[in-house]
Amino acid sequence: MPKLDRNVIVIGGGIGGLSAAYALSLIGKSVTVLEQAEEFAEIGAGIQLGPNSYKMFGRLGIVDDVNAVSAFPDHLMMRDSITAEVVTKIRAAEEFRKRFGYPYAVIHRADLHSVLLRRCQASDNVQLRVNSRVTDIQEAGHGVEVTTEGGRVFSAESLIGADGIRSMTRELIAGDRVRPADHIAYRAVLPAAEIPDELRTNTMTLWAGEKTHLVQYPLRGGDLFNLVAVFHSDRFVEGWNAEGDPEELHAKFADKCDEVQTLLGKIDSWRMWVLNDREPIRDWVKGRIALLGDAAHPMLQYLAQGANMAVEDAVCLADMLVNECGDYEKAFLRYRDARYLRTTRVQMTARLYGEIYHASGAARDFRNAELSSWPEERHYQGMSWLYGISPTWRDDGGTEPLEERAVGTTA
Ligand SMILES: Cc1cc2nc3c(=O)[nH]c(=O)nc-3n(C[C@H](O)[C@H](O)[C@H](O)COP(=O)(O)OP(=O)(O)OC[C@H]3O[C@@H](n4cnc5c(N)ncnc54)[C@H](O)[C@@H]3O)c2cc1C
Repeated sequence: MPKLDRNVIVIGGGIGGLSAAYALSLIGKSVTVLEQAEEFAEIGAGIQLGPNSYKMFGRLGIVDDVNAVSAFPDHLMMRDSITAEVVTKIRAAEEFRKRFGYPYAVIHRADLHSVLLRRCQASDNVQLRVNSRVTDIQEAGHGVEVTTEGGRVFSAESLIGADGIRSMTRELIAGDRVRPADHIAYRAVLPAAEIPDELRTNTMTLWAGEKTHLVQYPLRGGDLFNLVAVFHSDRFVEGWNAEGDPEELHAKFADKCDEVQTLLGKIDSWRMWVLNDREPIRDWVKGRIALLGDAAHPMLQYLAQGANMAVEDAVCLADMLVNECGDYEKAFLRYRDARYLRTTRVQMTARLYGEIYHASGAARDFRNAELSSWPEERHYQGMSWLYGISPTWRDDGGTEPLEERAVGTTA
């Protein structure tokens, strides 16, 4: 094998891939990111960030950049979308900082992606390549070789597959199948000024309905408003950006309360995601190849944690490489062991939350009666496994910037 070009190749320049590239660059690794698209970009939609990923932003040194483009909801609220009754309402802002050490935030995906992209662009350790769809991966001696469409070959000491739910890297390692959820998400972002005052609150609101739910929250410091409407459907369209059919959407939400109708009525043009996940697996690693983000643990979005988990993965991976003094095979196995039970829990809990949001009949009555009887404290306790301050892979609670753990490059 010729001299290896880089320490690490990352396939995929989404939030997971860029987080990994930047985290590895901070500990001194040279990284090439190969992205199949014509440009590094994210779609136009919001994303929720828990205190758990905010802690990781601290390790990456990007908290101020993320703060500058986030909104911080005062409350997290669930309402019944048929009667409009408030089922739960808990304080988010100061209460989250007090309990979990970090805030609950909402952000435009493109803004979070841009923060990471700018950091990668400014780093001498990161090389970013677009129009680079990987078509072949080969383990070769003490390294990995990948070939992109058009026949260009890249080599490195190791490979991270951050290539999303339809990951070809996962195909190589696990060979399992995507699992259709039979749910569709319609999304739209609109100027906040178009939302009536009584609904334009600084709250992350989830309207739970029978076989449907609607999520609303402000973006970009309150200038924009994010809407995601989810319903059961067996339609199948590949990808994250197909045009939605408003007639189908309105039919599914026809029996919902006036507030929900008002919100849905504000949008003419919806983009559509057909939702999928996969069964949780343990096979994330093969020698010097590891999966990260949706490639490792794709999940339904009902816990709003897919991107959060990808950012946690990235920091954990860098920590493990430092701990194992750059030994990729040992570090990747320790990374897998540190991560897969937590992400499995998130994947399984997300499915359960979907059932709770979409409950009908007696199950819906039970949800509303039970959750509305809980004191706020019980909700916080229920979240502590997810948002709690200590990451599972650091006994000491680890808060130091990754940069301070640099191990130096070897390629
Ligand atoms: C409706 C909805 C709402 C959501 N809300 C939230 C939320 O509030 N909070 C949250 O944390 N998460 C949320 N998520 C989940 C989150 O969007 C994903 O978990 C996250 O974007 C995964 O990032 P990733 O980088 O792992 O994968 P992706 O974003 O899928 O990136 C993969 C990248 O790899 C590239 N690629 C793929 N194959 C190749 C190849 N062969 N060669 C080169 N490049 C390749 C792709 O082009 C893409 O850029 C939501 C998801 C949905 C569907």
